[in-house]
Amino acid sequence: MAQETHSFQAEVKQLLDLMIHSLYSNKEIFLRELVSNASDAIDKVRFAEVTNSDLTETSLSQGIRISAFPDSQRLVVADTGIGMSKEDLLTHLGTIAHSGTKKFLEELKKENQNPDSNLIGQFGVGFYSAFMVADRITVTTRSADKNGTGYKWESTGDGSFTIDEVPLQERGTRIELHIKDDEKEFLEDWRIKSIIKKYSNYVTYPIFFVDKENKEEQINTTTPVWARAKSENKPEDYNELYKQIAMDFRDPLLYEHFKAEGTLSFDSVVFVPSEPPFDLYQRDKHGLHLYTKRVSIDDKCKDLIPEYLRFVSGVVETDDLPLNVSREILQQNTRLPAIKKQVVKKVLGALKKLASNDEEKYLSFYEKFGPVLKEGFHFDNDNHDKLAELARFKSMNTPSGEWTTFQKYADSKAENQKEIYYITGPNADAVARSPHLEAFRTRGVDVLFLTDPIDEWLVMSYQKFGELELKSITKGNVDLSGVGKEPEKAEKQEELKETEINPLLESFKTKLDGVVKDVKVSKRLTESPVCLVADENAMSAQMEQLMKASNKDFEGSKKILEVNASHPLIKNLRELQQKEGGDEKIKEWVEILYGTALLSEGSPIQDPGTFAKKITKVMEQASL
Ligand code: ADP
Repeated sequence: MAQETHSFQAEVKQLLDLMIHSLYSNKEIFLRELVSNASDAIDKVRFAEVTNSDLTETSLSQGIRISAFPDSQRLVVADTGIGMSKEDLLTHLGTIAHSGTKKFLEELKKENQNPDSNLIGQFGVGFYSAFMVADRITVTTRSADKNGTGYKWESTGDGSFTIDEVPLQERGTRIELHIKDDEKEFLEDWRIKSIIKKYSNYVTYPIFFVDKENKEEQINTTTPVWARAKSENKPEDYNELYKQIAMDFRDPLLYEHFKAEGTLSFDSVVFVPSEPPFDLYQRDKHGLHLYTKRVSIDDKCKDLIPEYLRFVSGVVETDDLPLNVSREILQQNTRLPAIKKQVVKKVLGALKKLASNDEEKYLSFYEKFGPVLKEGFHFDNDNHDKLAELARFKSMNTPSGEWTTFQKYADSKAENQKEIYYITGPNADAVARSPHLEAFRTRGVDVLFLTDPIDEWLVMSYQKFGELELKSITKGNVDLSGVGKEPEKAEKQEELKETEINPLLESFKTKLDGVVKDVKVSKRLTESPVCLVADENAMSAQMEQLMKASNKDFEGSKKILEVNASHPLIKNLRELQQKEGGDEKIKEWVEILYGTALLSEGSPIQDPGTFAKKITKVMEQASL
């Protein structure tokens, strides 16, 4: 085959440009990336070995070999892994930017960051990071496939690369970096060894440093963290393992190492990160690394962790699976759901422990991951009780900046209170101003503020905490008589009598015919003249808006307008009604009142222009 020249794909070009000109101070991570690729390649060949016996041999022991040639400024990372075919070289090292690359570039743009930021470490942009320290890279590789041959890939990172066929007997990949003049530190033995110790100590395969006499010295410790006794591990060991598998440069918030023995035997370490990963809201990006007999079966096994714990990373190793299990068969394996159950129990247990030992740390976790954790109410009925212990809420009676829990709420409920009251809305400030809270405020009865979009699902799936039912204060009837402290006589305004209010309600109904479902006297208002409530089984205003946002044609259900029979404005309207021609004026007032009711629940007004004109007119009349 004659030498071929190919252009890098646009995004790869962009990335290479960033790498070549990078001022990122932590350039040493390039070695971690190359070692991690080498280790993945050995994982793959070990997996292939158990499923297919027809592979190219290697005369070397399985492992990763690093050698430095200071005189010619070359650093070599070689592995005995799966190798690459010509197709692999073309796609993986040149024409296809994998999703991490795209995400990385997007994130750079979004944050207006320069590539010196920690993003490089965070995204693990892989192979290309070697161009931070090398001005030319030569990859020689032969696929483990019996029919494979050798190829040489070469590039200076300037927009194109070449591919040649070369004779190679042994499988595996050799990455040769020609080190830049000002990065020669990466050719020094001690420097290389210390980088390997720092980032790749627990890579599952031996990493050898090969010296000038061709003597091999193993640099890493290969018994993986999860397989050792807990007492043999230091916190740093767990932190390092976390960084490797989660591609995070920060230490995890917490980890849990556990070993199950008996009918179901496995070792596992799970981690909760300290900061959310960039893809936290990509629901399918979850999974734990699954090993059996040191062979990596799946590096993102979704069957080991539920979606609502997708921020958790970790490893499960079980020897109970047959080695030649395929990913499809894996899905039907009954052991995985049993392991998953244990893992969930451990994670929720670890979070509970954190909540009771270090409230502040727990809340910092909750602020970032709470909305995802709460998805569990919808998807994991079995763990409702545990999730209810972990959930935190803002509430009317909780000082701003602090949180309450279902338990605290229940402990401080008012006399005769049989329900947990809540209101949903876009944020705590907005719901705190809602007229629906008025009677609760007067009576000192607390109301939970459910302000995450997911809370709408929470209340659909979780209806009772202990004996207390969850009840929305913006839906159906709310009657607080007898609950909490009775309002003082002076606070209590005289209500309009039925004979007086009924004709007024009729005028409201006529004017709002087709707009609201009904008009009723309110038991929940003390200060505002009107508010809108939904039917007991209807969606909340917040939910309707979410539905409208995703479906233009969505029509919400009609609301009930509640009228405060003791409000001075309502009383004035009644007087107005009795005057000649009063009905016409009342119609205008009803429209304005309806508009304010919409605004106070955070719903948009159909025709804001006309509404504003009406208000102006009323103001004009009032100021005469
Ligand atoms: P990532 O490892 O995150 O996928 P890289 O840019 O580091 O991204 O590598 C791209 C791909 O190139 C890998 O997914 C793998 O398919 C292939 N590759 C890289 N290094 C090796 C290697 N040493 N052996 C076999 N394949 C490799």
